[in-house]
Amino acid sequence: MENCRKIAKQIRIDSLKMTNKARSGHMGSMLSMAEMIAVLYEKILNVDPQNPEMEDRDRFVLSKGHAAAAVYSALAQKGFIPNEWLGLYYCDDGKLMGHISHKVPGVEFSTGSLGHGLPVAVGMAIAARYAKSKRRVFCMSSDGDMNEGSTWEAIMFAAQEKLSNLTLIVDYNQVQALGHSKDVIDLRDLKTKLEAFGWAVKVIDGHNLEDVYEAFSSVPYDDKKPSAVIAHTIKCKGVPEYEDTVKSHYKFIPDEELDAVIKAIEEA
Ligand SMILES: [Mg+2]
Repeated sequence: MENCRKIAKQIRIDSLKMTNKARSGHMGSMLSMAEMIAVLYEKILNVDPQNPEMEDRDRFVLSKGHAAAAVYSALAQKGFIPNEWLGLYYCDDGKLMGHISHKVPGVEFSTGSLGHGLPVAVGMAIAARYAKSKRRVFCMSSDGDMNEGSTWEAIMFAAQEKLSNLTLIVDYNQVQALGHSKDVIDLRDLKTKLEAFGWAVKVIDGHNLEDVYEAFSSVPYDDKKPSAVIAHTIKCKGVPEYEDTVKSHYKFIPDEELDAVIKAIEEA
């Protein structure tokens, strides 16, 4: 897990530098999933940076596309894209768009508006079954994604089709763009809801690398059901002043604070 710890740390540092340089937001959304993205790319996904279009690769769909910078960092660390690209994230003449884009090697699908990732992931899972492929599909969704009707249609259809090759990961930091989720649309008991919809569910601490690895590496939890991981996380984890805050959704770390914040993450 030591590699995953290093990758997660670098995801945090890159995300904070990228959002600062671009004067853009969503750092809180990036930092809450750093450990999960690290484990996915280091330990779970069957992908090849030398052959990003490999037919039987696993598919990863980031439905919370605004958190793209964290995935771009992981792709750079894995060798899909040059590290230098990160320096022009969301800037003129850069190759990395603010929200995740399939034009970037290693990215399967562009998202931005919430509620699009899981329906597409369901389609990918059905396609894999028709192709008799063992490839798996993982989709990372946010609190806001779980407010969307299209997400729940996909949840129903995936259960109907018994898509055991599909895993939904909910980055359940309980904060979304305009407030804490309990004050916007309360998801309440998400585990019971997903189980009632026909999914097999695990609930984990999304910052505990061992927990994350165990949950991701043991899918499917039932060979006749899609799997869901509800990962309890903290928005903007790693920057105490911004943890669990709504402001971390839109803010970036100001210039005068950046060096100290990065030093604290490096030494953590
Ligand atoms: Mg959230």
